[in-house]
Amino acid sequence: MRRTLIAANWKMNGLRDDAIALAAAVAGHAGGAAAPDCDIVVCPPAPLLVPVGEALGAGPVALGGQDCHAEASGAFTGDTAAPLLADLGCRFVIVGHSERRQGHGESDATVRAKAQAAQAAGLTPIVCLGETEAERAAGEALAVIERQVAGSVPERGDALVLAYEPVWAIGTGKVATPEDVAEAHGHIRARLGVLFGPEAAARIRLLYGGSVKPDNAAGLLALADVDGALVGGASLKAEEFRAICRASP
Ligand code: PEP
Repeated sequence: MRRTLIAANWKMNGLRDDAIALAAAVAGHAGGAAAPDCDIVVCPPAPLLVPVGEALGAGPVALGGQDCHAEASGAFTGDTAAPLLADLGCRFVIVGHSERRQGHGESDATVRAKAQAAQAAGLTPIVCLGETEAERAAGEALAVIERQVAGSVPERGDALVLAYEPVWAIGTGKVATPEDVAEAHGHIRARLGVLFGPEAAARIRLLYGGSVKPDNAAGLLALADVDGALVGGASLKAEEFRAICRASP
């Protein structure tokens, strides 16, 4: 019912030629004979959206932004408006990544406003949430997740993807255990059910993110309530990203 979504977060990596080559490699695979049966989105740095979009062409791999502003336009130096992302061909945008929450002081309310701006522009926001290592050690992981769902999720439950990314698993090589991922995703689904009703909640894709690699992807993607992955480091290597896409159940 929920089609797997594999999202590549390139973060602040790559120059134009690297990005074009990587996008072409990902797009070639997705359109080839061994194409994985899943949705794929590539989120390059904002200045590379146009060349990466051109490299992806009209194929099945979607383009996404890594962030957007909550306002549609205005005096916000350095920010990117959701309508501009849509105009450049994006279909998705990541909001509330922990690197934005921590490095740019984004609150749950800010993340929600960005997610709503994305939806208003016709984009599907990928709303990120997840606990820190200290919060997990203190036994607060589920409470943090619950608070973030309540505060960050937009009012509309359609055109919405969530990504559970334990902060301590991002870029560290540490992966949450299958039990912890299943528990977190089940909890998120239940909270979405309270917000939107069980039928709408059942349509929302929940991604796992945090050191997803070719050797752990199949196990993670097979878990109940895991509908895809948000991939950072491994998305910068075409072969690794392809292998993760192929691990789609
Ligand atoms: C991310 O940045 O969203 C991420 C999951 O990174 P990594 O795969 O490198 O842990």
